[in-house]
Amino acid sequence: MITIPAFGDNLIYLYRYNQSDCLAVDPGECRSVLKILREQDLSLKMILVTHHHWDHTGGVAELKQKTGCKVIGGDKQRIRGVDQLVEDADTLPVGDAGVHVIATAGHTSTSVCYYVPPSPTNSSGILWTGDTLFVGGCGRLLEGNAKSMSESLQKLASLPDDTLVYCGHDYTLENYEFALSIEPDNQAVRQRLNDIRQTGQTVPSTILQENTTNVFLLAGTPELKAALDMPQAKDVEAFAELRQRKDSF
Ligand code: ZN
Ligand code: FE
Repeated sequence: MITIPAFGDNLIYLYRYNQSDCLAVDPGECRSVLKILREQDLSLKMILVTHHHWDHTGGVAELKQKTGCKVIGGDKQRIRGVDQLVEDADTLPVGDAGVHVIATAGHTSTSVCYYVPPSPTNSSGILWTGDTLFVGGCGRLLEGNAKSMSESLQKLASLPDDTLVYCGHDYTLENYEFALSIEPDNQAVRQRLNDIRQTGQTVPSTILQENTTNVFLLAGTPELKAALDMPQAKDVEAFAELRQRKDSF
C-alpha cells in the first residue's frame, strides 16, 4: 500500500494488485497521485470513492481524464464521473480476491467502505473506511443518525481480527486523547496512545485493535456506559452521547 498524505490529515491510497496495475482510493487531489504513478511506473486502472466530499474526490476528474481509469462509487448524483455505481455486497473484479463493497451510511447517506478479503497474495484482509471508521474514532454524523452509523460500524467490527484498516483521515492522536477524557482509567487505550506517541505508527490499524480500543465500537459495553454516567442507556443512546461529546471535544 502506498499512502499519500493530502491537505494535512487526509490519506489517499494507491494499491497495486497485479504487475503494474493499481487502484486509488479517495484521491482528493491529482498531482501527488500522478507523480507517484510516474515515479513507480504504475498504471491506474480504477478509483474507489468512499463518499462525495471534496477532500475525497477533488482529484477524480483529472485523474480519470489523464489515465482513462474507471471510477467506482456509491453515489452517481454527488460524485462526478462515476462509471460504476455500487451498492452493498457488490464485488469488483480486482486481483485474485476481488474488492467487496460494504454500505456504511452514517457520515453521509451514501458512504461505502471497500474490503479486500485475504488471499494467497495478501495474508490479511484490507479495509478502506473513508470517513466512517477512523483509527480510534469514527466520522461525524452529517447525514445519518446514531443508529445508522453504529450499525455501519458494527458491520466493519465483525470483519476478521487481522484485517488492516486504512482510513480517510489520520485523527488518531486526537481520537485517543478524547477516549482517555471519557475513560481515564482505560489501560488498553492509555497503552495504545503511548505506543502511538512513541512509534508514530497510526495507519493501518487492525480490526482487533479497533475492537479493543475504539470507544465508538465499545459504546455498548457496561464500562463505557458507566463512564458516560448512563448505565441504563441503550447501546445506541450511549453511542449518540459519545459522538456528541466528541463533536465538542
Ligand atoms: Zn467526509
Ligand atoms: Fe473527509
